[in-house]
Amino acid sequence: MRTDTSASVPAASTAPPALEVHELSVGYGGRPVVTGVELTVLPGEVALLLGPNGAGKTTTLLGLAGELAPLAGAVRLAGAPAPAGLHRRARAGVAFVTEERSVFMELTVEENLRVGRSDIARVVTLFPEVERLLDRRCGLLSGGEQQMVTLGRALARSPKVLLVDELSLGLAPLVVARLLTAVRDAADRGTAVVLVEQHVDRAMRVADHVLVLERGRVALSGPTADVAGRVKDIEASYLAGGGPHAPGGEQAAATTRTE
Ligand code: ATP
Repeated sequence: MRTDTSASVPAASTAPPALEVHELSVGYGGRPVVTGVELTVLPGEVALLLGPNGAGKTTTLLGLAGELAPLAGAVRLAGAPAPAGLHRRARAGVAFVTEERSVFMELTVEENLRVGRSDIARVVTLFPEVERLLDRRCGLLSGGEQQMVTLGRALARSPKVLLVDELSLGLAPLVVARLLTAVRDAADRGTAVVLVEQHVDRAMRVADHVLVLERGRVALSGPTADVAGRVKDIEASYLAGGGPHAPGGEQAAATTRTE
């Protein structure tokens, strides 16, 4: 997404968008869950994807990561068609981190990083907190520490595009702030980020653009400063009425959390 509040990446104004999504439709078993998604993220930008439970945020990220093939539309990376499939897209510079702690619990942090062929020094530079944890088994770490390892491992590869799906689920506010700061820092080094995050207020502080999904369609999109008020209204409607997926309010779960 283009922005004038953009991060301080010198080349950002001349670089092609790191990620372009046109009329993307993604779903399961040939049935679309998300349709018509338009998104452009430049190097150095964070786009925040919001919406109630079941709106299609994770499905969208799976489409961007290459886990789900598009049913229609296109995903482009740095001006070229994105290769199909999770692994090929990962090799093209797309990192995908999720709420699931993708570490081997029986291995130490250092072993986990070695298995993932990570640059350990780089991980420690990005997350100095990880240094003292290197010889500790991942199963003994806190959730926040595990996510620092997960995010550090992804960021150590200097991804061109970082997709983050509710990395901070269930974590303490200070840890959430730390992880979001690391995400913002990655963008400031030139990564294009698409972030799904329940802590809306905190996430909006690091986001250049916001896109709200409702029932698989983009209901609102724009620079954070322009849409923040409307995001609040939409969020309030989820909290008050159970969201667009909850006729009669019986599925009144809201995905968003305010602080
Ligand atoms: P949440 O905030 O609860 O994680 P979300 O916005 O990320 O929600 P998705 O997880 O993308 O929403 O789900 C969107 C829709 O796709 C939901 O109706 C869900 O039931 C459906 N869905 C998700 N995974 C599958 C699957 N593997 N097969 C079929 N339908 C699925």
